[in-house]
Amino acid sequence: MECSHRYPAYPTQGVAAELERHIDIHRQAYNYTLYEYENVDAEDIGSAYKHHSRLPDWKDEFPIFSEVNSKALQRTVTRFYHNLDGLSEKKQNGRKVGKLKWKSPREFQSMTFSQSGFELKNTSGRHATLWLSKIGDINIRYHRDIPDEASIKEVTVKKETTGDWFVSFGLESDEADRPEKPDVDSLDSSNSIGVDLGILNYIHTSDGKTVDWLDLEDKYERLRREQRKLSRKQKGSNNFEKQRREVAKVKRHIRRKVLDYQHKITTWLVREYDAVFVEDLDVKGMLEDSHNARNKQDAAWRQFISLLEYKGELYGTHVVQVEPEGTTKECASCGVETAKPVWVREHSCPSCGLECDRDANAAMNVLQRGFSELGLGWPEDTPVETALPTDTTQVSAKRVVEAGSLGA
Ligand SMILES: [Zn+2]
Repeated sequence: MECSHRYPAYPTQGVAAELERHIDIHRQAYNYTLYEYENVDAEDIGSAYKHHSRLPDWKDEFPIFSEVNSKALQRTVTRFYHNLDGLSEKKQNGRKVGKLKWKSPREFQSMTFSQSGFELKNTSGRHATLWLSKIGDINIRYHRDIPDEASIKEVTVKKETTGDWFVSFGLESDEADRPEKPDVDSLDSSNSIGVDLGILNYIHTSDGKTVDWLDLEDKYERLRREQRKLSRKQKGSNNFEKQRREVAKVKRHIRRKVLDYQHKITTWLVREYDAVFVEDLDVKGMLEDSHNARNKQDAAWRQFISLLEYKGELYGTHVVQVEPEGTTKECASCGVETAKPVWVREHSCPSCGLECDRDANAAMNVLQRGFSELGLGWPEDTPVETALPTDTTQVSAKRVVEAGSLGA
C-alpha cells in the first residue's frame, strides 16, 4: 500500500539555488528523453526501463547529467513514460489529446529521489532534516509523523508557484510488518463503532460523541477577498500573477488544515476501535439531491473515508462501508421506518417507543449494518437501548486540533 506525506521545506538560500539548478538539469533530461523518444530509432527506447540504459551514454556526451543523483535521473526518465501512459489512457477514453511537449522551467518544478540518495534525520521534534545527495541538508517542518511501519520509497522536492518549497515522501508499508486485523468474531458493541457523517459538518459516533467540523469561515472569507482582488487585476500582468499566487496560497492553507484535521480524527478512530463502520458515500450520493453544499461536503467526507481505510490497513482495524439508505429513518431498535425532515433532531419511534438523538440512531444503524456486513449478528445480550449512550459528549474542533485526539 502506498501513500504520501507532504511537508513544508525551508532550504537555505544556497541550497535553494542548488535545488533549482538540479531541477533544471532534470528538466533538460526530461526534454532529452522526449527528443530521443521522437527522433531516435533504437532498441533501447520505448519503455522507461530500457531507456534507463542510455543514461551512461548521456553522461559521456553531456557531463551536466553527471551532476545530479543518478537514481533521480532515472526517475525523471520514468516520469516521461508515466506522462506518456497518462496521455494514451486519455486517448483511449475518447478525449482529444495532443503530444507531450517540451517543458519550460515554469512547467517543471520538481524532482524525485527514488530508493536512495536521501535520508530523513532528526525526526524527534517539530522540525526534521532531509539530506539529499549532491545537494545537502534541508530543514522541514515535521508536523506529522511518518508511521514506524512505513518505509520511505521516494522523496519529491517541489517549488510551488508561490515560491514555497515542499517535500513529499512516498511511503510504502511492508505487508509483513502490518498488524493483523482482529478476528471478526471478537468484535462487539464495545470495541466497534458506527460513524454517522453529518450533513451539518460534524460526525456522530454510535458511542455518543459528536465531533465538530473545523470552523474555517474566516479562511473562506479571506479566500473570497483575495479572489475579488484577483478579478480586478489585468489578466497576464505582473500584479495578476502575484495575486494568483496569493489565492493559491490561501487555498492550499485551507486544504492543509482540513487534511491535518482529518488525519487526527481518523488516527484516533483506528487506534481506539477494532472496527469502524461508515456509510458508503458512492451510494449515498446517488440517493440524495445534489445540492452544491452537499457535494462539497461529500468531497471532504470522501477524503475522510479514504484516509480511514488507509489507516485501517496501517493499524490493523476493520474499516467497512455500509449501505447508507434509510439510516436516519430506520429505528435502530425495531427497524420500523419513520420519515424525518432534516430539522427534526429527535428519533422517537411510534412502534417500539425508542427515543434518542436523531444522529445517535443513525450511527447505531451504521454500527448494526457493519456487523451484518461482516457476517455477524447483533449481539443478543445487548439490547439497542442499553448499547445506546445515555448522553452525548461534544468534542470541539479546537480540542481535536490541540490534543490530537477525541479522548477525554
Ligand atoms: Zn422502534
